[in-house]
Amino acid sequence: MPDPRLYIEDALHEGAQLSLDDGQSRKLTSVLRLGPGSGVRVFNEEGEWRAIIAAASKKGVTVEIGAQSRQARRAPDLDLLFAPVKRDATDLVVEKATELGVRRIRPVITARTIADTVRLDRLSLIARSAAEQTERFDIPEIAPPLPLIKALDGWEEARALIYADEAGEVWGGEKARDIARALAALNADAPLAVLIGPEGGFTPEERTLLRSKRCVIPVSLGPRILRAETAAIATLAVVQALVGDWRRGA
Ligand code: SAH
Repeated sequence: MPDPRLYIEDALHEGAQLSLDDGQSRKLTSVLRLGPGSGVRVFNEEGEWRAIIAAASKKGVTVEIGAQSRQARRAPDLDLLFAPVKRDATDLVVEKATELGVRRIRPVITARTIADTVRLDRLSLIARSAAEQTERFDIPEIAPPLPLIKALDGWEEARALIYADEAGEVWGGEKARDIARALAALNADAPLAVLIGPEGGFTPEERTLLRSKRCVIPVSLGPRILRAETAAIATLAVVQALVGDWRRGA
């Protein structure tokens, strides 16, 4: 088993001693049952370093940082906008989106969104723990929730918004392109975002608004209606495979 990996906000230098926060200390001692001399890895956006536990007591764990072992690599410039769903499903989306390499998670409130608050502190912890496990170097930023209209008003021109439109195929109406074809038309390294609606779907007004924006690319995820969390995970996987960093050499 590789040594446990811990995200550290402060700058990391070989030879430095570092006190871990309560959660990380507890994870090493109570959960993993490690003590002085055990190896760990510490990382942040700058890279990853080897470290060993120098001291462990009730007050917390101190580690001594050794040599740098990896250079950092950034996740692609990919945002996930999603309408918060029930708590467990939202947790799942945050964990999986982190594993799949999104850079930012932006909850958006739509007309049919059932949860209009999210626990940002809780979601940040989920993202951090997923980042630690998944060998990435940064932790996705979790933005405070914003009404969909506001998010669209402040939209950066250069970022294409891949909008998963369940009406595009399943319910008839104006067709959405299939996702592979829509992505093939994009520039591979351009900034991107994915938008997934709530369990109740988008309203006709939201659909019209979305389709009126130049940056929006409506896509279909096929002939079945997916749950919001499945749609988020599936879309991110397809994006990473076709235009993201699953491509070799990307
Ligand atoms: N209750 C809605 C479905 C919402 S599914 C209805 O019956 O119409 C939740 C979200 O997942 C949708 O808003 C959409 O963003 C995405 N989604 C699910 N299935 C999809 C599909 N086949 N094509 C495109 N988007 C889909």
